[in-house]
Amino acid sequence: MSHRRLTGRLVIATHNGGKLREMRELMAPYGIDCVSAGELGLPEPEETGVTFMENALIKARAAAFAANLPALADDSGLCVAALDGAPGIYSARWAGESKDFTAAMALVEEKVKALGCTTPEQRKSWFISALAIVWPDGHSEEFEGRIDGVLVDPPRGTAGFGYDPCFLPEGHSRTFGEMTSDEKHGLPADGSLALSHRARAFQMLAKACLD
Ligand code: IMP
Repeated sequence: MSHRRLTGRLVIATHNGGKLREMRELMAPYGIDCVSAGELGLPEPEETGVTFMENALIKARAAAFAANLPALADDSGLCVAALDGAPGIYSARWAGESKDFTAAMALVEEKVKALGCTTPEQRKSWFISALAIVWPDGHSEEFEGRIDGVLVDPPRGTAGFGYDPCFLPEGHSRTFGEMTSDEKHGLPADGSLALSHRARAFQMLAKACLD
C-alpha cells in the first residue's frame, strides 16, 4: 500500500499540553513545521466516535479543514482489563471538568479494588494511541500503538501527564510518571520497537509518511 508523504506545515490537532509536548518531540527530527490547534485558535470538536481511531479522525479532519493544512491528531487512553477496557476512550472525561488526574487515578483504583483485584495479573492494563493524519482533500493515514503494563497503587512520579504515575510498563521497574520524556518514548537508535504507545504509533507514521 502506498502512503502519502508529509511535507511542509502540519497542524497538531490537540489542546492537551502533555500530548502536544510529546507529539512535538516525536516530530522534531523530521523538519516539519508544526503549529498547534491552540496556536491557530481552532475550536475543539466534540469527540462522538466510539473508537480511539474514530475520535482521532474527527479531530484531525476538523483541524485540516479549518486550517487548510494537513493535521495530525492523537486519541489515546488507559484501558484496564478488569474494567472491560474502561476508562478507554473516556480517559479524559474521568478526570472531570477540572482535569483532575489524581482524582481520575483514584477512581480507577477504587473500581479495581472493589473487584478485589490485587495481583499484577488482575491489574493488567494498557495504553492505546491512535494517530490520524488528514489532509485538506480528505485523504487520511491511520496508525495505532499499544503498550501493556499493570496499574500500581499508590501512583508514583511527577513526570509526564494524565495517568502516567499509575502505569508500570511491562518489563520495567519505573512508572511512566517516573521516567523522563525520552525514557517514556523509548525510541531505540536501531529502529527497534519504542516503549510508549504514542512513540510506537509514531514509528509507524514516520516509516509510512516521513522517512
Ligand atoms: P483524549 O485523547 O484527548 O480523549 O484524551 C486522552 C486522555 O487519556 C488524556 O487526557 C490522558 O489523561 C490519557 N492519556 C493518553 N495518553 C496518555 C499518556 O501517554 N500518559 C498518560 N495519560 C494518557
